[in-house]
Amino acid sequence: MEKIKMTTPLVEMDGDEMTRILWQMIKEELLLPYIDLKTEYYDLGLAHRNETDDQVTVDSANATKKYGVAVKCATITPNAARMTEYNLKEMWKSPNGTIRAILDGTVFRAPILIKGIVPYVKNWTKPITIARHAYGDVYKNVEIKVPGKGKAELVFTAEDGTEVRERIHTFEGPGILQGIHNTEKSIASFARACFGYAIDTKQDLWFATKDTISKKYDHTFKDIFQEIYDAEYKEKFEQLGIEYFYTLIDDAVARVIRSEGGFIWACKNYDGDVMSDMVATAYGDLSMMTSVLVSPEGVYEYEAAHGTVQRHYYKHLKGEETSTNSIATIFAWTGALRKRGELDGISELVDFADKLERACIKTVEDGKMTKSLSLISTCGNPVILNSLDFIKAIRETLEAL
Ligand code: NAP
Ligand code: MG
Repeated sequence: MEKIKMTTPLVEMDGDEMTRILWQMIKEELLLPYIDLKTEYYDLGLAHRNETDDQVTVDSANATKKYGVAVKCATITPNAARMTEYNLKEMWKSPNGTIRAILDGTVFRAPILIKGIVPYVKNWTKPITIARHAYGDVYKNVEIKVPGKGKAELVFTAEDGTEVRERIHTFEGPGILQGIHNTEKSIASFARACFGYAIDTKQDLWFATKDTISKKYDHTFKDIFQEIYDAEYKEKFEQLGIEYFYTLIDDAVARVIRSEGGFIWACKNYDGDVMSDMVATAYGDLSMMTSVLVSPEGVYEYEAAHGTVQRHYYKHLKGEETSTNSIATIFAWTGALRKRGELDGISELVDFADKLERACIKTVEDGKMTKSLSLISTCGNPVILNSLDFIKAIRETLEAL
């Protein structure tokens, strides 16, 4: 069989631990036999990030800007324990944070649905994609523990020295204070990433805040979304027959639960943090969540939503068998290959990505799966496979499709 040719390289960001092992298996078993794979390789494994003073992460993000599409393996975000384990020069920042800051992107997370793994919400027959605004609000807060009587004010000092003051509260006794902020630039960039992704995936976009209570802060989010929608995206949405829909956050939550899924839910930073865990859990399993970072200019970086699966890696190092689910990592590859195929007009690449995804789903639906999936699957007598045998089973299904 002739291998599928590529014209533009994918930016390949290798990672850490168990997912780094899966990465290699996926390439060898599911990609290299079928595609003349063209990638620009960046090793984001922690050892190499440390050697390069994390320059490799910055370089990989800049390459993503240049080529437009990247696929990323899960990576370790160092903490104190990792400092010793990897003998690090510094506690390097989260690669995802660094890449997100350079691409100015928004993360979209969606579950992979499979028959036999039933969402807790029974009417969710289609995926719900969560888009989380990743800047500001309570994540960049300033807090004070108020010791006792006194007055609290919100003060803004302009460059020319003029002040705006608002009384927050006059304390009669001890209490607490919190200051949060956001910027119009960041909100606008979030809005554009959401509208763009809705068009790209032909799904409705929902957005909700608490603008009735937060008449300036949350209302600004609502207004910026509406202005950008009217000026830049309305026509395209109407052509595609998709909808932009704004409502109050409480109403959104009720509607989401009653819905059948199949839309993008744009969330402010805190809402996105909380709701993405709720949605992921309700669909069944973190190892079945995909994730893509989309910049407002339309640059894409695909990855799995889970981490490096450290516990499995330590078993693997001891020579013990692992049964780690590679589906989300495979979907990171298929997402990136499909996008590359679309951008370069290579329909064989798009078809291959579709086919490989179907092979993953069919393998599990045929009863062959990894351990964690078998625990939540309603399929009787599942065959539990180890990490490599599961990938080989997907290859067999792929060959037979
Ligand atoms: P994790 O790697 O997502 O794993 C947590 C647990 O979830 C695993 O121990 C395993 O449970 C289960 N799990 C996750 N993915 C699975 C898969 N594909 N197949 C089977 N089971 C899976 O989270 P973590 O252990 O908290 O983090 C490990 C490292 O990953 C950390 O260094 C963290 O910084 C990093 N991380 C990276 C990213 C990223 O790069 N995007 C995201 C999150 C975390 P059992 O052990 O019970 O089987
Ligand atoms: Mg969370």
